This record gives sequence, structure tokens and C-alpha cells, in this order.
Amino acid sequence: MSSDTTAPSSAPAKTGASPLLPVDEALARVLAGAGPCGHESVPLVEAAERVLASDLKARRRQPPFDASAMDGYAVRATDAAEAPARLAVIGEAIAGRRFDGTVGPGQAVRIFTGAPVPQGADAVLIQENAERHDGGEIAALEPVRPGQHVRRAGFDFEEGQILLTAGRRLDFRALSLAAAMNHPVVPVVRRPKVAILSTGSELVPPGTIPGPDEIVASNHLGIAALVTANGGITLPLGIAEDDIGTIAARIREAIESEADVLVTLGGASVGDHDLVAAALKSENVKLDFWKIAMRPGKPMMFGTVGGLRVLGLPGNPVSSLIGGFLFLAPLVAALAGRGAAAPVPEEGRLSTAIKANDTRRDYLRARLSRDADGVAVVTPLGVQDSSMMSAMVEADALLIREPFAPAAEAGAPCRFLRL
Ligand code: AMP
Ligand code: MG
Repeated sequence: MSSDTTAPSSAPAKTGASPLLPVDEALARVLAGAGPCGHESVPLVEAAERVLASDLKARRRQPPFDASAMDGYAVRATDAAEAPARLAVIGEAIAGRRFDGTVGPGQAVRIFTGAPVPQGADAVLIQENAERHDGGEIAALEPVRPGQHVRRAGFDFEEGQILLTAGRRLDFRALSLAAAMNHPVVPVVRRPKVAILSTGSELVPPGTIPGPDEIVASNHLGIAALVTANGGITLPLGIAEDDIGTIAARIREAIESEADVLVTLGGASVGDHDLVAAALKSENVKLDFWKIAMRPGKPMMFGTVGGLRVLGLPGNPVSSLIGGFLFLAPLVAALAGRGAAAPVPEEGRLSTAIKANDTRRDYLRARLSRDADGVAVVTPLGVQDSSMMSAMVEADALLIREPFAPAAEAGAPCRFLRL
């Protein structure tokens, strides 16, 4: 994508001699220029967790009138400045139906929470502090201050006030506020459309009966879940056999459907049947990188064609999902207007010794616990094979081992990503 980079050539390295692209550099390239992918208007009832595309002004003031905050009696504070004070009850104000008259000297109106405070009254005597007498009289047992238990009109917000700004996620609080501001429809960032294509002649959909040499495709489901969790929508492109023409046709489908992102699963390596890179090139996808200094997940591709970003993940399930977690999730979040919230490493201590690392950054599946001081203790799982989904699911975290990290003793500090 970028032409100004000083990083290693993105051309496929047949010799393996050129250094692999560091993970952070790869992530920076994937996220380069990724921001909100567009705008649309949606009914507020469908806007939960969407991101506001523009500032939102209140369409009314809240509360719209001076309102009682308590059940009790609307009074003139001067009449009950000293207790006890006797007042004549002349009517009733309830939420949704005001008292139309005026409260004069020595008078009170029975009032309930949310009811408009009647004209003339300027405070509410709570009913716990009132004693009812026969003949429609009450005695105020406590002095009343002006404005007591009254929510002034506009106390919460005024008409025209901007209360929610562009970029704000409509979480459960913001959504209710937008409703109180009386917005039936809100402008939000469009959900990025992510096409997902599994490749492999051995793959069949989950739930079907595989032939003797076939396996069940599984990665697309985890990848789809990452997409929706980060604010995207998915366009499932199914399974393509390892045939360049078939894969290319599905890539065209992604381009023609104006997807924002295409994720390919499998076929990313350099074997005779790894055809994704060639198929992408045949559809004019400009490959930015093909291999990165990461384990699992070295054969990972990124490229663009027009407005479409293409992420080519390896087929091994653990590699696919870690690639999705590290690269796709932040990309989708960025396009959805949530900001590219790449997972942030936390600090912990190793529970066991680990050996020195080679040229690639490792993401080891690990369990987490806490020591007596509350420090996170990280235990890498015994099996780290990139095909082992059972171990992936058992893991709480990915232990990060930097390229060329020296051997480390039990108790040594370490960094990890929580899963
Ligand atoms: P590949 O990256 O195509 O060389 O695939 C590597 C390994 O992952 C092979 O054992 C494939 O059978 C397996 N694999 C590829 N794609 C998927 C998938 N979508 N779901 C599960 N396993 C896969
Ligand atoms: Mg394959």
C-alpha cells in the first residue's frame, strides 16, 4: 500500500534471506489510513453500540418544565419557612397532568414525582415531613427552603445543547440520552463490510459429512465473530477449492460487492497449492507484504485494490485466529469508527523458564493466574502447535516473546495479551 517504506521488500522471498517484516510495522501498514468507512442514518432503536458520525444536539430541554423530584406538597417556601406551618390543600398535580391553578399564600397542592410544579409554588414539602389533617389541611413539620425538591426546567440540558459528539459510541447510557434528546434517527458510522473466503480443496462446511480426506472448515466462524464484535458485518464467500480461477472469481465477488475488507483463509504459504497470492495478483490486488516475523502466522498477506483492503491469513486455525485477533480486529474497529484499538500488552511474570527466541515474535498460548501480590503469572501451555484449537481455547492469554529474546528464568517479567 505505502510506497515510501524502508521496510523489507514485499515481494515473496523465495530464499528466505531477506529479514521478515516486524509485526508492529505490519500492523501499522494494515491500519494506515483506516478510519470511519462512511455514514448512514439508522433508527435509534437499531443504533445500540454504533458510533455517532456527527455531533448530536438536544431537540428539547430537559426537564421541559419545573418538575417535582419527590412525592409531597407543592408550596410557597415563604409559607413554610418555619415549622410547623398549616396549609390548605387546593388540588393535585400528577406526572402527566398538571394542576392548572395558582398556589396562593397559605395554600399547597398535592404533588407527585415528575409532575409540573404549579404556578405560585417554588418548593416541595416531602410527604414524610407533612402531617395530614381533616378538612384538607396539612402541617409542615420541617421548614422548607426555596427550590427544595424542584428540578428546574433545563436542569439536565437545554434545547440545542450538544451532549453527544461525533465518534461517541452509543452505549447503553448514550443511547438513552439520545432518546431523551428526542432523536428518532441518528447519524452513525457505516458498518464495514468484511468478506470472508475459506480456501482449500479439503474443506467442507461444518455440520456436513466430510469425505475420507476432507476436514471441517472452522476458521471462518471465529473470524466472523471477531468482525461483528468489532462493529463490522460479514459477507460469507464460502469455500473455494485450490484452483486459481475459482479463488479469483470469489475475490472479484468481494470487489464487486464493495466490501471494505476481504479476509482469505488458507493458501497463503508457498506450497504448490497455495494460490491466494497469485489469485490476488490476477485481480490487481497490490500486495504490501506477504510474510511477517511472527509465530504462529508467518505467511500473512496484506494488500489493497481500490478501496478494498485484503488480509490473507494462513489456514492453520490457531494462526488464522491469532492473525485475526492482532490485525483484523483493530482494522475493523478503525473502519467502524471505534478507533484502532489494537490489543494492549499487560505485564506479568513467568511461572516457568523458557528458552531463547529466534528471529520471529512468538505469541505463545498461555494460562493466567495471580500470585499472592496480585501479579499476573503466565504459564505457557505445553503444546504450541498452530493447528491445536483445543489448546487455543484453553488459553487465557498470548505470551509475547520478542525476536531474539534471551532465555528467561521462572519469575522473570514478561508481556502478554489477554484473550
Ligand atoms: P493452508 O494455509 O491452506 O496451507 O492450510 C494449513 C492447514 O490449515 C491445513 O491443514 C488446512 O487443512 C487447514 N485449514 C485451512 N483452512 C482451514 C479452515 N478454513 N478451517 C480449518 N482448517 C483449515
Ligand atoms: Mg490450503
